[in-house]
Amino acid sequence: LSPSDTVEAHRICVCVRKRPLNNKEVTKKEIDVVTIPGNGTLLVHEPKQKVDLTKYLDNQVFHFDYSFDESSTNDLVYRFTAKPLVQTIFDGGMATCFAYGQTGSGKTHTMGGDFSGKSQNSSKGIYALAAQDVFTLLKQRRYSSQDLCPYVTFFEIYNGKVFDLLNKKAMLRVLEDEKQQVQVVGLQEMYVSCAEDVIKMIEMGSACRTSGQTSANANSSRSHAILQVILRRRNQLHGKFSLVDLAGNERGTDVSSNDRQTLAETAEINRSLLALKECIRSLGMDSQHIPFRMSKLTQVLRDSFIGENSRTCMIAMVSPGMASCDYTLNTLRYADRYTQT
Ligand code: ADP
Ligand code: MG
Repeated sequence: LSPSDTVEAHRICVCVRKRPLNNKEVTKKEIDVVTIPGNGTLLVHEPKQKVDLTKYLDNQVFHFDYSFDESSTNDLVYRFTAKPLVQTIFDGGMATCFAYGQTGSGKTHTMGGDFSGKSQNSSKGIYALAAQDVFTLLKQRRYSSQDLCPYVTFFEIYNGKVFDLLNKKAMLRVLEDEKQQVQVVGLQEMYVSCAEDVIKMIEMGSACRTSGQTSANANSSRSHAILQVILRRRNQLHGKFSLVDLAGNERGTDVSSNDRQTLAETAEINRSLLALKECIRSLGMDSQHIPFRMSKLTQVLRDSFIGENSRTCMIAMVSPGMASCDYTLNTLRYADRYTQT
């Protein structure tokens, strides 16, 4: 199977990626409960207790388009997930790639890459790798004559509100006109002339995402971050690639602090992830009714769920440790729904 086979043939591609046990988990001697035998299959060995209190492992099997084990690199994951979608935007379509999973499972590592210096191998993420391929294609003769101009936006949705990461986190309004076109008013759309330009924007926006004093700043895991690479021809929208680092999907019941702010945030995250599931599912069924108004996230991504030429890829991230087992099963069950349509 080649990378392009799946995404070309299906409008939705669902994959799973397992990260390695981290140092803390190794020190705690955590057991790795996730096995990836290959071919899109993944096994979770869920610890259970019998009535007589003896323990056993209950194996649960999941199937996806691709499953990536802990040895896989960002490069490899990219090649099978977002890379085939770059072509979609040159063909005049809408492409969307989501990173889904609990906090700490590797969403930002996969999307934004790891330049922190904390990790041993700093590596480019899907944002940068996709940007490189966009410029490679722009230089090809069949596209260089087409007058296509690339732009980038980078914003965050926190608690149902939109903040511009390329403009000092300005809070922006989302408007919908009578033709149901959705617009984020005042969102900075930056012209980019090379992949390095995009990487600079990513670094600038990512720094903006995690700095500052408000609770949105303090905890980026509570917000969705969306990088868009937009192709325009004579100012008309030609294609758009949305790369989404979703908020952590951990449940409200596990939030240690139960102050009102946190509960409201959690409710909003749950609502938006549920809305996302519904919207992607209706994309797969060619449904007439797409419930994109259910959340701000799906509203700003409306273009991704309509049109003949929309392609979506979901990468579900899982942590391998036994302590994360319930979260891991939650994540896999959420992602599993898509493949059943
Ligand atoms: P999330 O964005 O889902 O909360 P992160 O991407 O920040 O999670 O990952 C948490 C930590 O695990 C980071 O220190 C990151 O560098 C590390 N990590 C995540 N995925 C991998 C991987 N595939 N290989 C090595 N380290 C990883
Ligand atoms: Mg993150």
